[in-house]
Amino acid sequence: MSEQQRSALTPEGRGEHLARLRATTAENPLDVLVVGGGVNGAGAAFDAATRGLSVGLVESHDWASGTSSRSSKLMHGGLRYLQMLDFKLVAEALRERDLLLEHTAPHLVKPIKFVFPFFKKVIDRGFIGSGVMLYDAMQSIGRKRAVPFHRHLLHDKMLDVFPALDGDKAVGALEYYDAQMDDARFVMMLVRSAAQHDAAVANYTTVIDYLHEGERVVGARLRDEESGEEFDVHARQVILAGGVWTQEQQELAGADAGLEVLASKGIHVTVARERIPAVPDTGIITQTEKSVLFIIPWDEYWVIGTTDTPWTEGPRDVGATSDDIDYVLEHANAVLADDLTREDVIGVYSGLRPLLQPVRKGEGKGSAKVSREHTVMEVEPGLSAIAGGKFTTYRVMAEDVVDFAIKDIEPGRPSLTRSVPVIGAQGYAALVRDKSEISKRIGGEGSGADEVRVDRLLFRYGSLLTDVLALIDEDPSLATPLEHAPRYLRAEVVYAARAEGARHLADVLERRTRLDYETRDRGVAAADEVAALLAAELGWDEAGVRAEVTAYREYIEARLAGEATTSDAEAAARISIAAEVPSHR
Ligand SMILES: Cc1cc2nc3c(=O)[nH]c(=O)nc-3n(C[C@H](O)[C@H](O)[C@H](O)COP(=O)(O)OP(=O)(O)OC[C@H]3O[C@@H](n4cnc5c(N)ncnc54)[C@H](O)[C@@H]3O)c2cc1C
Repeated sequence: MSEQQRSALTPEGRGEHLARLRATTAENPLDVLVVGGGVNGAGAAFDAATRGLSVGLVESHDWASGTSSRSSKLMHGGLRYLQMLDFKLVAEALRERDLLLEHTAPHLVKPIKFVFPFFKKVIDRGFIGSGVMLYDAMQSIGRKRAVPFHRHLLHDKMLDVFPALDGDKAVGALEYYDAQMDDARFVMMLVRSAAQHDAAVANYTTVIDYLHEGERVVGARLRDEESGEEFDVHARQVILAGGVWTQEQQELAGADAGLEVLASKGIHVTVARERIPAVPDTGIITQTEKSVLFIIPWDEYWVIGTTDTPWTEGPRDVGATSDDIDYVLEHANAVLADDLTREDVIGVYSGLRPLLQPVRKGEGKGSAKVSREHTVMEVEPGLSAIAGGKFTTYRVMAEDVVDFAIKDIEPGRPSLTRSVPVIGAQGYAALVRDKSEISKRIGGEGSGADEVRVDRLLFRYGSLLTDVLALIDEDPSLATPLEHAPRYLRAEVVYAARAEGARHLADVLERRTRLDYETRDRGVAAADEVAALLAAELGWDEAGVRAEVTAYREYIEARLAGEATTSDAEAAARISIAAEVPSHR
C-alpha cells in the first residue's frame, strides 16, 4: 500500500482502525491514546506517530467539529497579543506560521495581506506603527522572512489598496502580512498524516469512560457512534485534547484536579466578495473596544469577525444571536465607506474559545508545565491534558504534550514534526507548475479563470489533488460541478467519503466543503445532490438519504432561528433539539 493510500480515511479503513483499537489488551496496549480530534488532538497523534509510537486517536463527532472548524482561519502571531505584552506567544506563533508556510504545509497555508487603518494621524501611526514594526522584527530574528515586510500607506495609497475603506474617517494605514488556512481541512489533513504513520484513527467514536488500574488511567471505554458498539482500548498513556470539553472529560475520569477551561463565543459572518472592493488577497484588521475585528478575504467571500462573549450553555449547542451579527456588522461598518446590512450576510458560524484559567500551585496530583501560551498537566497518573494556545501553535503544543506524556515510558524519542511535512506537501510544487494541464483534466481550457479554479483545488488538496483527478479520469462525470454549488466538483464529494473520513452529509457541507457559510441557503440546496453521491459511497438506502437531508435541514433551520433571537440561552435551545447527523443503525 502506498503512503498516500495508507493515509486515506476510507469507510472500510475506519472499521480496520477500530478493530486495531479493540485488539489492544492490558498486556498489549497502545503507547498513546489521544482523545479529541480537533487541531490539538490531531497534532498530538501526528507527533506521537512520527516518533514511532503506537497511537490511537478518537473523536466523538466529526474531525474538527468542535472549535477547530470555527476559527478566523488565520495562521498568525496575533497582533492583539502584542498589546497584551505576550511577546513569547507572538514569537512562538510567528515561528510556527513561517515553518508551515515554508516547509511543512505550504499547500494548506498561504500568505495574506492586511491593511490596518488609523483614525488619529499621529497617535495611531505611532502606536500601531511600532506594534507592527515589532511584529515584523520578531519574525526576522535569525531567519529568512517568509512574508514581506510591512509598509506605511498614506491616505490615497490606502484607498488604492482598499477602496472600500471610509476615507473620510481613516487617515492612513499600515499594510502587513500574515497567513491563512482552511481550519477544518487542515485538521483532517493532520489526521491523515497521523494515519499515514500508522496511527489508528476513528471519528464518531466517543470516550464514555476511563479505565483505571488503582489510581492510574490505563485506557478508555469507547462507543462507536455508528454501530453503537462499546469496547475498551488499553494505552500506556492517555492524552486529553478536549478543548472546551476538557473539564467534562476530567470529571468523567474521576480526577479531583485538572485544567480549568472556560468557553468564550466568537462568531463570524460571510459576505459576497464584490460587496467590499479591494485588491486581491487583502483584508482589514481594525481595533474594537474589546479586541480586534478582521475582514478576511475567503475565496469569493469575506469572512468578518469576531466577537468575544462568555458562553455558559452546552458546548455542542453554540450558535449566533441577532445581537452577535449586529455587533460584527456595526464594527465592520465603522471602517467601511458603504455600510453592510443584514441582507448582505450570506452565512454565519460560531465557535467557542477554550480559555485556560491559571492553574494554582499545589493543585493536581502530578506536575504541571504552565505557561502563558498553553498548559500541559498530569490530571491523573497516565492521563495528561493540554489546552490553551491557538490553532497556529498546535505543533508546539503537540510536541509538549507528547514529550510530557512519554517522558517516563519512552524517553529519547524527540519530536520530528519540525521536519515532517503534512500530507499533500510532497509534490505540491510540481502540481502548481502544471496548473494549466490540470485545468484541462477537469474540463477547462487552461484559461486564467480555469487556473483560479485549480488554485482553489490545490489549496484544498495539495498534491493529493492527483487522487481527485484519478477519480475524474475513471468517471469523467465527476468533473461536473455541483448544480447548486458550482464552486465544488462532484468528485470532491466522492473523495470526501472515500478518503477524507466524511460519514454524514453535514461533514461534507460544513467541513470538507464550507457550503454552510458560503451559500445563502447554507448548503441546503446542494444537500440532495451531495447526499445522493454520499449514499453510493456509504451504503445509505433511500430512507437513509432522507434522514440525512432532513437532519441537515433541521439543523440549519435551528441555527437560523437562533440567529433571530437575542439570547444565548434561546439560540442554544433551538440548536440542542436539532441533531446535526442521523443514525443509520
Ligand atoms: C472565534 C474563534 C476564532 C479563532 N481564530 C483563530 C485564528 O484565526 N488563529 C488561531 O491560531 N487560533 C484561532 N482560534 C483558536 C483555535 O481555534 C483554538 O485554539 C483551537 O481550535 C482549539 O483546538 P482544540 O483541539 O483544543 O479543541 P477542539 O477543536 O474543540 O477539539 C476538541 C475535540 O474533542 C472532542 N471531544 C469532546 N468530548 C469527547 C469525547 N468524550 N470523546 C472523544 N472526543 C471528544 C470534541 O468533539 C472536539 O472535536 C479561534 C477560536 C475561536 C473560537
